[in-house]
Amino acid sequence: MKSKNILLLSLLMTLMYPAVGFSYEKIKCAGITQKWGSNSVQMRASGTGFPSGVWRNALTESIDLWNQNPSKFKFTLSYNEPGVGKGNFQNEIWWTSSLSAPAVAYYWYTCLTGHLVEADVVFRTTTPYHYTHNKKTLSGYGGGSRSFQTVAVHELGHALGLKHVSYTYNAMGSDSTHMHANGSTAYAYPGEDASHGAVALYGNDNATNDVAIAHWRWTGFSGEYSTHARTRVFNSSGSLLPSFTDAGEPRYRVNKGQQVRLEMSYENLGSGCKSTPVKYYISTNDLITTWDRHIGTGNVSVCRNTVYTTSNTTLTIPNDLTSGANYHLGAIIDPDNAIAETNEANNSSYVGIRIN
Ligand SMILES: [Zn+2]
Repeated sequence: MKSKNILLLSLLMTLMYPAVGFSYEKIKCAGITQKWGSNSVQMRASGTGFPSGVWRNALTESIDLWNQNPSKFKFTLSYNEPGVGKGNFQNEIWWTSSLSAPAVAYYWYTCLTGHLVEADVVFRTTTPYHYTHNKKTLSGYGGGSRSFQTVAVHELGHALGLKHVSYTYNAMGSDSTHMHANGSTAYAYPGEDASHGAVALYGNDNATNDVAIAHWRWTGFSGEYSTHARTRVFNSSGSLLPSFTDAGEPRYRVNKGQQVRLEMSYENLGSGCKSTPVKYYISTNDLITTWDRHIGTGNVSVCRNTVYTTSNTTLTIPNDLTSGANYHLGAIIDPDNAIAETNEANNSSYVGIRIN
C-alpha cells in the first residue's frame, strides 16, 4: 500500500532514495537510515475502529506476527485510543473512507539524526477486507475479500522502518499473494526478506528459529511492488506441466509413474542459517501432514536473504493412484521436528494435481 513520508525537522528538499537492491529497503533521508530509537514501539488502536471483537483480534494477530520476527524489535499494542490523527507524536491505527489506496502508512522522521518519530496506519473502510483465515474467502485463493492481516503486516512493516520491495517474494510487495497456506486456512506473515530487514535495522535477537514453506513465488514487479504467483510442477527435465485453474487454485496434470519436480519457496524466518530435510507427500486433500503418503526426501539450506524458490528434488507419481482423480503434492520442511521453532504451523504446503 501507499506510504507517505513527511519530513518533520529537516527542510532538506533532496531526498536520497536507496538504490533498487535484491532485498529489504530501509527508509532513508539524505542517505541516513531512519529507524526507531527504541526496540519497543507502541501502536495505539482507535477505540471506535477497533472495539473488542474480530477486527481488534485481526490487528492483534498482525502485531503478534511481526513480534515473532528474529530482530530485537517488538511492537506493543494498546486499545481504545480516543483521539487519533496525523502529526501528534503517537503511533495510531484507524479507519477512514477517504483514502485512494486500501491502506496507507504515514511516517515522520528527523532525517539528520536518523530517527522515526511517528508512524500511523490507516485502513480504508470501503475495501472489502476480511479477517478470516478461510483461504477460499480471500483474493489470493479465488475469493472476493482482501485479507486484513496481509495488509496490516505490510503497513506495520512500514511503521517498523521498511519500504516497498520489488525484487523478491515479499510482504512489502504484493501482500495479498504473500501467505502461508495448508488445508483450508491461509495466514499472513512478514516473510524472510522483511524479517531480514528488521534484523538489519534493530539487530538479531539470536533466539528465533523458524523455517517455513510457501506455495507462492516471486515473478517480477509492478512499480515498487514485487509480484507473486503460485509455485509450479515440472517434469524431470524441467518443462512446465499443463495445468488449469480449479476453484481458484492451480492444478497440474500428471501421469501415473511420471517423474516430476515440485516447486516450492523455502524460507528462513529465524536468527541463523539452517540446513534441513524436506519430505514430499501425496495427499488426497490439501492438508499436508506427515500422515500422508511419503514419496521422497530432499534437503534445503536456508539463510535470511533472497527467498529460495526451487524444484530441486525429483519425485515419482505412484502407479496405483486413481485416473481422473485429484490429489495434492505436498512438502514439509523439518518434517521430523529437529528444529524447535517459534511457529511450527508454517512448515507444510501443497500444489494440486490431477492424474491423467
Ligand atoms: Zn506499502
